[in-house]
Amino acid sequence: MSNDQNKTDVILIGAGIMSATLGSMLRELEPDWNIKVFERLEGAGKESSNEWNNAGTGHSSLCELNYTNEKADGTMDITKAIKVNEEYQISKQFWAYLVNRNLLTNPRDFIMPLPHMSFVWGDDNVAFLKKRFDALLAHPLFIGMEYSDDPKQLEEWIPLMMKDRENKQSLAATKIDTGTDVNFGALTRKLFDHLEAEQVDVHYKHNVDNLSRTNDGWDVKVRNLATGKAEHHEAKFVFIGSGGGSLHLLQKSGIPEGKGVGGFPVSGLFMVCENPEIVEQHHAKVYGKAPVGAPPMSVPHLDTRLIDKKESLFFGPFAGFSPKFLKTGKMTDLLTSVKMDNLLTMLSAGAKNMSLTKYLINQVMLSKEQRMEALREFVPNAKSDDWKLVVAGQRVQVIRDTDEGKGTLKFGTEVVSSDDGSIAALLGASPGASTAVSVMLEVLAKCYPDHIQKWEPKLKEMIPSYGVPLSENPELINEIHRTTAESLNLDPAE
Ligand SMILES: Cc1cc2nc3c(=O)[nH]c(=O)nc-3n(C[C@H](O)[C@H](O)[C@H](O)COP(=O)(O)OP(=O)(O)OC[C@H]3O[C@@H](n4cnc5c(N)ncnc54)[C@H](O)[C@@H]3O)c2cc1C
Repeated sequence: MSNDQNKTDVILIGAGIMSATLGSMLRELEPDWNIKVFERLEGAGKESSNEWNNAGTGHSSLCELNYTNEKADGTMDITKAIKVNEEYQISKQFWAYLVNRNLLTNPRDFIMPLPHMSFVWGDDNVAFLKKRFDALLAHPLFIGMEYSDDPKQLEEWIPLMMKDRENKQSLAATKIDTGTDVNFGALTRKLFDHLEAEQVDVHYKHNVDNLSRTNDGWDVKVRNLATGKAEHHEAKFVFIGSGGGSLHLLQKSGIPEGKGVGGFPVSGLFMVCENPEIVEQHHAKVYGKAPVGAPPMSVPHLDTRLIDKKESLFFGPFAGFSPKFLKTGKMTDLLTSVKMDNLLTMLSAGAKNMSLTKYLINQVMLSKEQRMEALREFVPNAKSDDWKLVVAGQRVQVIRDTDEGKGTLKFGTEVVSSDDGSIAALLGASPGASTAVSVMLEVLAKCYPDHIQKWEPKLKEMIPSYGVPLSENPELINEIHRTTAESLNLDPAE
């Protein structure tokens, strides 16, 4: 072990979108602070944040049906839809701020306007979609949404999906043109380029092996994977932004807030079409309804994607099971995450979620032809030769004891921090990268309570709606839509 001792203000573990976002915010708030980043892979944005590993949806509940629920009294609950949409508006404002200051360039490299649509079939689903549409349209965040159950209109909106469709069932769709496709991998890399230009000390091929408390912060034990040499770095604040690797590091920190927490990995798989003749027939993100028993993150959707300036179509994600917590992780990840303090929680979750486990294992066993059948519900004449399978990233869902019972599987994102605010970890992956800025605002509020008041004017400059519930301010919504569209080049006509 080396005796290297390096002191710094902040250490970020992992070079994904979350560390990129927190680092960029701290750079604006405290330009003089020393920040170090340690990433085990050879570059930024290579795990879940990579463009091939996630679906690139700027989640704002314009098309995702799982963010609205029909209540027992028949009314539509849109609370979650409003929350997710507001969080995405926060991300767009921060990106626009960075673009306006030339800290991020060429926004079309990472974000493009793309209609967001929901598409359903069958009378019950059509009735659900109409009710959802009526509830959302009445809200200022969703102005501009259109509904149609007219096959002629649907042929105009989604020609590829309507071609050769023999299904005699009723069909309906909603469409809104203010949706986006985000290349989170490109965004992460751009943010890291910016951080390095701003003297943030970024170390790739450096694995964080352990964390221990010091008098005024944390000692982080890092292994240089190129030389095998161990180093020790000290920081007043540590952010564990390690994606699927966060749970193990949280456990190593030993903080009481991390006790009793477990993780359950869900893997993903996309079918991808790069045949230009087919790609050009579709221009939207079209979300369907999740099959019965499927976890919310495996809602099937057919998306136009822009990666490396080339358009392709992605369909999926198909869920699956692998015990790895990172795509580049180890087969022992799930097993080694089980500790004495979360054993009962994990066992309860296992017993309660047998049907989910069965569903995931069934998904893993699907042949390509069976996956093509699922795709043909969206693209009736899809040919197997035009579509290839691509393995996506891993999502580690949080398991903890809640009011709903022991071993509850949670599908959201969770910030776990120590009571003195010297360390925070981000667990879970949904809605994910789209909400990076609001999740990092939560980290700042929890870990820097003494600074947040001083930072307020700067935060308002970075995020004009900071501290203001957008849904209660229709004028501010319009203003933010206009200014972010201008800065991020989101005019569909351009
Ligand atoms: C199939 C799929 C589809 C998705 N679709 C969407 C979507 O459409 N829209 C959306 O907003 N979100 C989506 N997400 C979620 C989104 O991808 C994640 O929430 C987001 O990328 C997580 O970012 P992160 O920075 O926390 O993690 P990551 O991007 O995984 O980065 C973590 C980094 O930490 C590094 N690391 C781990 N352990 C260590 C260690 N010990 N030492 C050093 N480095 C370490 C890893 O190598 C990695 O680079 C999707 C995810 C998946 C898997």
